[in-house]
Amino acid sequence: TMLEQQERYHAEESRVLDAVRMANEFKVAVVRKELFLEYQPFIEIDTGRIVGFEALMRWNHPKTGRMRPDLFIPMAEDTGLIIEATRWAFREACKTLKRMITQTGDSALFISVNFSAQDFDDPAFLDELLFTLHETGIHPTQIHLEITERLLLRQSEGVKKILQQCREHEMQIAIDDFGTGYSSLSYLHQYPVSTLKIDQSFVRNMTTDKGVLGLVKSILSLSENMGLAIIAEGVETQQHVEMLQTLKCRVAQGYFFARPMPEHEAASLLAGQYTK
Ligand code: C2E
Ligand code: CA
Ligand code: CA
Ligand code: CA
Repeated sequence: TMLEQQERYHAEESRVLDAVRMANEFKVAVVRKELFLEYQPFIEIDTGRIVGFEALMRWNHPKTGRMRPDLFIPMAEDTGLIIEATRWAFREACKTLKRMITQTGDSALFISVNFSAQDFDDPAFLDELLFTLHETGIHPTQIHLEITERLLLRQSEGVKKILQQCREHEMQIAIDDFGTGYSSLSYLHQYPVSTLKIDQSFVRNMTTDKGVLGLVKSILSLSENMGLAIIAEGVETQQHVEMLQTLKCRVAQGYFFARPMPEHEAASLLAGQYTK
């Protein structure tokens, strides 16, 4: 009916208004220091040692409180506001890593930062990264750029060139959520990738589903054949750990080891491993 149609229209309209409001609020979030990062460690399975951290963005929204990235990252991507947020996150992550290195004396620690496809539309992308690395005194090898398969799927010469330049400057490039939905396999070799992150869904299901286990095994042998490093994501149980160990997967991340946490917690967790 006409009425239903109108209601649908109003519902749609208020969604659009919500999205516009959220975008406007996000626009000032960086300046107002409402964004912050949490850090989730990467663990070397055999030794239990922390080898690095992933920086994950959070928004402390003035009204609704702490907001999950799934709720605001898509909006930030659609509006292009992500570019500014990523610049901020990268700089913050570098500063944190610098403090961690100073604290521990361990210059092998690394930090990974999530990048969206839109970040690569920024013509100043590489210069920004290099400037921030220089400014914060971080060596490029200690930086992992986490990108998704979707970006590779674009088959963009521009993206390819930027990634190549990042590699030439010795930054590491990790493919996030590897194996999910997109058949990027056919052009993986065209990109200067250094690490594959096995998606959480595979880790979660490999213990119960032989097909998924087969998939995990083939990702591991693929990485070995291509000389790529592997990180298993979403490791939640002892059983996951044992299975990954059997499969000779060296590095893992997940709630079994640690949740994402504020810098001061990450720092004290880290401090513990150097006093042993
Ligand atoms: P992601 O990059 O795949 O990050 C992993 C997500 O899984 C994180 O959620 C993390 O908290 C969660 N996680 C880690 N271990 C486990 C586990 O054992 N079990 C389960 N169930 N979950 C686990 P989070 O922090 O909510 O981030 C969600 C997504 O938002 C990220 O997925 C990433 O795509 C995006 N994101 C987060 N921070 C940023 C950022 O700074 N920039 C961009 N572009 N995207 C970001
Ligand atoms: Ca990630
Ligand atoms: Ca992931
Ligand atoms: Ca994800």
